[in-house]
Amino acid sequence: MRSLQSDVEQRGTRIFELVDKHPERLFSKAGFYQRLMALSMHDERFKTQLFRFVAVLPSLRRSSEIIQHLEEYFSGSNDGFSPLIGMGVRVARIFPWISAPVLRWNVSEMARQFIAGRNPHEVITTLRKRRAQKIGFTVDVLGEAVVSEAEADEYAALYGNLLEKLARETKDWTDPLGKNAELFPVVNLSVKISALYSQMSPAAPADAIAHLSTKLRPLLRRARELGAFINFDMESYALKNTTLELFKTILTEAEFKDWPHAGIVIQAYLRDSEGDLRDLIEWGRARGTRFAVRLVKGAYWDYETTKSDQNRSNPPVFLQKPESDANFEKLTRVLFENEAVVTPAFGSHNVRSIAHAQAVADELGIDRSRFEFQLLYGMAGPIKRALVEMGCRVREYCPIGELLPGMAYLVRRLLENTSNEGFLRAKFAENVPAKELLRDPKELIKPAVAENGDSRGHSGSNQKNGASLHAADGDSFRNAPLVSFIYKDSQDKMQSALREARKRFGEKHPLYIGGEKIWTDNLTPSVNPAEPTEIVGYGTEAGVEEAERAVKAARAAFEKWRWTPFEERAQLLERVADIMERRRYELSAVEVFEVGKAWSEADGDIREAIDFCTFYARQMRRLGRPKLTQQVPGEESYHHYLPRGVAFVIAPWNFPIAILCGMASAGVVTGNAVIMKPSEQSIVCGAMLMQVFEEAGVPPGVLNFLSGHGSVIGAHLVDHKDVDLIAFTGSREVGLKIWESAGITRPGQRELKRVICEMGGKNAMIVDADADLDETIMYSIYSAFGFQGQKCSALSRLILLEKNYDRVIERLIPAAASLRIGNPEQPGIMVGPVIDEPAYRRILEYIEIGKKEATLAYQAKEVPPHGYFIPPTIFTDVKPNMRIAREEIFGPVLSVLKVRDLDEALEVANGTDYALTGGFFSRSPDNIERIKARLEAGNVYINRSCTGAIVGRHPFGGFKMSGSGTKAGGEDYLLQFLVPRVVTENTSRHGFAPGQSPEYRDEFLWPKPRQ
Ligand SMILES: Cc1cc2nc3c(=O)[nH]c(=O)nc-3n(C[C@H](O)[C@H](O)[C@H](O)COP(=O)(O)OP(=O)(O)OC[C@H]3O[C@@H](n4cnc5c(N)ncnc54)[C@H](O)[C@@H]3O)c2cc1C
Repeated sequence: MRSLQSDVEQRGTRIFELVDKHPERLFSKAGFYQRLMALSMHDERFKTQLFRFVAVLPSLRRSSEIIQHLEEYFSGSNDGFSPLIGMGVRVARIFPWISAPVLRWNVSEMARQFIAGRNPHEVITTLRKRRAQKIGFTVDVLGEAVVSEAEADEYAALYGNLLEKLARETKDWTDPLGKNAELFPVVNLSVKISALYSQMSPAAPADAIAHLSTKLRPLLRRARELGAFINFDMESYALKNTTLELFKTILTEAEFKDWPHAGIVIQAYLRDSEGDLRDLIEWGRARGTRFAVRLVKGAYWDYETTKSDQNRSNPPVFLQKPESDANFEKLTRVLFENEAVVTPAFGSHNVRSIAHAQAVADELGIDRSRFEFQLLYGMAGPIKRALVEMGCRVREYCPIGELLPGMAYLVRRLLENTSNEGFLRAKFAENVPAKELLRDPKELIKPAVAENGDSRGHSGSNQKNGASLHAADGDSFRNAPLVSFIYKDSQDKMQSALREARKRFGEKHPLYIGGEKIWTDNLTPSVNPAEPTEIVGYGTEAGVEEAERAVKAARAAFEKWRWTPFEERAQLLERVADIMERRRYELSAVEVFEVGKAWSEADGDIREAIDFCTFYARQMRRLGRPKLTQQVPGEESYHHYLPRGVAFVIAPWNFPIAILCGMASAGVVTGNAVIMKPSEQSIVCGAMLMQVFEEAGVPPGVLNFLSGHGSVIGAHLVDHKDVDLIAFTGSREVGLKIWESAGITRPGQRELKRVICEMGGKNAMIVDADADLDETIMYSIYSAFGFQGQKCSALSRLILLEKNYDRVIERLIPAAASLRIGNPEQPGIMVGPVIDEPAYRRILEYIEIGKKEATLAYQAKEVPPHGYFIPPTIFTDVKPNMRIAREEIFGPVLSVLKVRDLDEALEVANGTDYALTGGFFSRSPDNIERIKARLEAGNVYINRSCTGAIVGRHPFGGFKMSGSGTKAGGEDYLLQFLVPRVVTENTSRHGFAPGQSPEYRDEFLWPKPRQ
């Protein structure tokens, strides 16, 4: 008996022979495209620039814009293409009306190569040609990212329309194999769920399924009536579980339970794909009706690995290509073994994967008319032909759509075709021998490669874009990963934490002074802003007496703590981080109730608190050791730092654990004794943080917890002679008072008070004429309305160039209108309540001011009846001097300003008192450079949201009236909590100087700690 491997080799060789019989290039059209691809395969930088240029081109309307971008993207590169571009640009300058359209035409042709038609009419022509070649079809609608429900409705209508047209045009078509035709309807539509619902949140699959089912039912019903097939395509990992759940839920409904013509995709590059497939098969058996599975490797490998690297989490995909190939083969067998209930389709261009499927089918006695091979339109034509010649069932995946929406698809295809790892490149561009291409992938898996992000050699390294840079310390720092609410397990844990937190509503929290729990007669309630009748907990109210006691306790503790080795202090923070990690869901749940954060926002806050602890611990280890200033014979001069004394930390409610923890942990790790005062609106969160420090073993008095009124204890402590440092984050009004008051030297005061003052913002995002609108809308909406606009980094001024003003507004308003507003206890809510009644009233007042000053372009109509819910609001016709364009509102209110050009945009953006965050959406390299240089903001974000700073990666803080220029989560932050000192010793004796001094020495501690 022949082994499977030799069978695969024989079949593969046969396919190659057939392929070589009709030599054709890899891609169906020659010329321009071939040349670009060849260059891309040999030059990574060129490839990046090319893909970026291709992505922006359709949005450029004038020839001059095309020429300008061409020059910006390609001038200065060393590839063979630049002289060509240089010449092209020179010619284009003289004859722009000729060159630019030619270029656009060329790129259009390139896209058209992968797009079967711009409309149903064009696509039918293509499908007819394929029919003559005995190739079937599945049609997919290309699209822009769906940012609103209006757009999702349009897609649903498009799918419906397409289905009708395809059914009409193909009604007399018969099955190409004339066998088992009942398994393979002629009309086959591939659907992407992301096109049908704009508010999908991985944390809320039930919500997504409810919305998507409403859209899908009419489509499935009609498909059934027309005898058509619907396939659920698979997209990024974040949507995978929802897609699977949706598929199973809707097809178990009575109406569709016995309908066999629906299919779903399994991506073999996913580690959990085998589990998913087996689960589907079990579901199919229980359902009792056949369904189909298209097995693919997966189209989002680069995206998934980049996303995971950014979040420092394990990627859901295999990291070695042969692992995906081997898993594809494993799942091929699983499919065939369960052929009684599942109809398999294999979506691959890889001859080895295809030959293996053929061999396993034969081994298990499955007729080749009972499964199909599916290949993409515009790719691997010779392989399709070979398979038809071998009597296999072949279906082509045919995208339909306009050029602009098709660009993301085109770029994915370009990436695939030029990927170092891809089969097509190996076979058709590099002529790798057949024998090599047909090897068993299991043999190619390298056991030595560690299964984590570092194995690819780019994550965590200091190599950036090929250049070796001096790495800031933040570069190798590993942030705690965010909780992924994709997983049912995480969703369940959060639900259970919310239930537990609810049970503890009304709990009373003491003050902590000098390691003792202190109670007073006054308790302050902290309410749930989504349901103000619910009291989340009570804080004990400190008065001046307790404040005095806290200062004394801190002062006393400081004398010992300051001489505690920094290593011990750093370890304390690491224990705090570990405890927060262990209690992560519990802490998040309290935030949801106490300040109205959505799940992921609450988790982000706890993650940030953990990062502050681990980052500052690490920074302290760097700063803690005295460093030699210069190497000179006979003298040693060491520069080091001492703590300042007693630090008073005043934190806001909007990042109730992260900011409090960030400031307090910086104070503690640097050897100061800290009094922390949480905001009056987030006392319970503050108390929880204190509990965590207690559990971690913070010595008595080193950290004291004082809840109470800012006007009483805050003012008292700011002015106190024994307080050496004030770390404040909050409003400009309070911040400026502290700044002023701390400047007065009181009798008996030892030190000049250091004030760290982080205040508000009036953050602007500028949208360039060539911006990617999908991203612009998505990120602007998130930046403006995420956490109800209550982040100091939130977007409040959207500055649009008049050239694309209408296009942005057209999509922005429906996107805002689609947001999910509600009690954030529910998963997937984007807009919850604002913090309390005064905030609620103040924001409503600003909305009234806005109505008088500008045009109310949008305001949500429905918000929950209880709680402090403000409807997301957008004003247009806003002028820079209006109050709504100058004053911080701190709520879900967005002002849109129209400007002539980038000069004016910068003038407007920089024209406020603040400089906290700012953003820019553009695909012009020159304009991006200009904004990088000229936008006045402490944190400038390009082509992304302007919120969500990550410790170590985006040190956070502004200047002008936004703050004193400090950077929380940055490598110089701890310096604010320290005083520098230099110790110099003459080490020579009678002219004899010892050898070289070490660059670092031990701390100056006396008495020396025992080893
Ligand atoms: C008809 C059809 C429909 C499709 N539908 C979908 C769909 O709905 N959803 C979807 O996600 N994909 C889909 N794909 C798959 C995707 O678009 C790619 O075409 C496919 O992954 C390429 O695989 P291949 O077997 O042709 O080529 P090969 O060259 O053999 O494999 C390339 C693939 O290997 C994987 N890979 C690359 N590098 C690595 C690495 N270092 N470690 C691990 N794995 C790696 C990636 O998945 C990559 O795409 C479909 C493909 C076809 C043909």
